[in-house]
Amino acid sequence: MIIILEPDLDNQKTTVQAIRAVAQRYPGVTVKPYEFKGTTHRFTEVHLIGSTAAVPTGPFEGLPGIRQVVRVSAKYRLIGRHDPAHETAGFEHNGVRIDESTVHLFAGLCAVDTPAHVDEMMAALAREGIVTTRMGAYKPRSSPYDFQGLGKDCLPWVFESAGKHGIRLIAMETTDASHLDELWEALDRAGHPTAVMVQVGTRNAQNYELLKQIGRQHEFPVLFKRGMGITLEESLNACEYIASEGNPRIVFCLRGVKSLLGEPHRNLVDFAHVPVVRRQTRLPVCIDPSHSVGTRLCAPDGLPDIFHAVGQGVIAGACAVLVDFHPHPEVALCDGGQALTLDMLGPLVEYIRRVRAAYLESVAAMEGLDFTALASA
Ligand code: PEP
Ligand code: MN
Repeated sequence: MIIILEPDLDNQKTTVQAIRAVAQRYPGVTVKPYEFKGTTHRFTEVHLIGSTAAVPTGPFEGLPGIRQVVRVSAKYRLIGRHDPAHETAGFEHNGVRIDESTVHLFAGLCAVDTPAHVDEMMAALAREGIVTTRMGAYKPRSSPYDFQGLGKDCLPWVFESAGKHGIRLIAMETTDASHLDELWEALDRAGHPTAVMVQVGTRNAQNYELLKQIGRQHEFPVLFKRGMGITLEESLNACEYIASEGNPRIVFCLRGVKSLLGEPHRNLVDFAHVPVVRRQTRLPVCIDPSHSVGTRLCAPDGLPDIFHAVGQGVIAGACAVLVDFHPHPEVALCDGGQALTLDMLGPLVEYIRRVRAAYLESVAAMEGLDFTALASA
């Protein structure tokens, strides 16, 4: 059972105490308050855990400061949007606020290769005023003979370059819990010139031990990539694992699903799920057009398929975009064929700005229309 408090409640502690007092009447019930910060409001929920089937909702509904009491199945207890009016639960990390108020672009190298390439990338981002990037140090590859990433050896110069160019947040995949310590040690040694959001890759979407370890640490927020061969529900449950271990700072990233029906793209683009994830959860939603589309080829209108996929995600309300770039894709050690070049960065920023404006305008134009009512009329 979840008791939803009125947003921004002044005497929130008193309300939580009152809930505890009532809950004490029912043996086997534990009380756990959770706080979520949206873009403009603070939300509190009190979860009653244990044998709540026989616990009535009335005594809680009667307390002051209560907005709603809902019975939920165990599913998405923590990441779920139990109140449609609640905002997406964003978070701030190293001065970067991830929520639905803006679209962040995490453009960078799929796999870190040389200090010069990393520096060229970071410098290009800085010129565009971008403070977020992606940099793969630990690469999960389909073949054991492919480049596996430079691992912890590259972290000192990646972090130094980020610091030099004012990059505040790097999305970086971890494929093993030991990488969390390596990342933290390297950041510490460098004096924290930047920060990391750890990526759970699509291949690890159901690696429950890794998910639990990532959920137990508080240093890094998480960019969780949808499992490419599992249902959306299974991927969302994986995020619930992370949250239930104590780390609610999760961004959910759609990256396409494995299907021959997506050909000639690398995966079947699944950005129609952006509104679904936004409806079912409070997680900020990211899209990865590079790993879903998998090619730099252009449409007859001149725009790369990757731009079109970005547009599909952003017009559906995604608030983060993860894209592979490389200063010299022809020598990239991983995914060069889908990497955009640095002269495409400015146009991509402009394209996202335009599509985002179109999204906000279209939503505003429809405000006040009750589609549910229209559909049943
Ligand atoms: C990546 O982003 O570098 C990556 C390997 O993506 P995915 O896990 O979605 O394949
Ligand atoms: Mn890649």
